[in-house]
Amino acid sequence: MGDCIFCKIANGEIPSNTIFEDENFRVILDNGPATKGHALVLPKKHYADLFEIPEETLAGAVKTAKKVAANMKDKLGCDGLNLVQNNGAAAGQTVMHFHLHIIPRYENDGQSILWKPTSPTPEELVAVKETILN
Ligand code: 5GP
Ligand code: ZN
Repeated sequence: MGDCIFCKIANGEIPSNTIFEDENFRVILDNGPATKGHALVLPKKHYADLFEIPEETLAGAVKTAKKVAANMKDKLGCDGLNLVQNNGAAAGQTVMHFHLHIIPRYENDGQSILWKPTSPTPEELVAVKETILN
């Protein structure tokens, strides 16, 4: 993927603030962080999103996030942490190279990673279930 910025960052062609690296992943600080320590797990190979990434690579990304998260809790003293992963423009994905956000959270950090709950009827929920299952 010649023009993918995250391919270039993940493979070291463009410098980044790397906080973890191994054969398959690079973890960098987000340059527009939601909070102090906001990081991105980047696979070194290009996959656009959850639909493209192989299961083993996805598992590796989550394992990597777990290691980095433990280190963040220890070193940054965060009070909580969100893992966020966007797929498709409709879901807020802006860089079309799979990445997992690690967002350390602090009491009163002023951020919000929430949605507005809706109120479907029980029948509507069943209809959704049937659509997914059939
Ligand atoms: P998305 O909205 O696609 O899930 O997240 C993309 C994230 O990548 C954003 O949080 C944005 O701040 C970050 N980002 C975009 N371009 C760069 C870059 O060149 N370097 C770094 N470190 N982060 C980037
Ligand atoms: Zn890429």
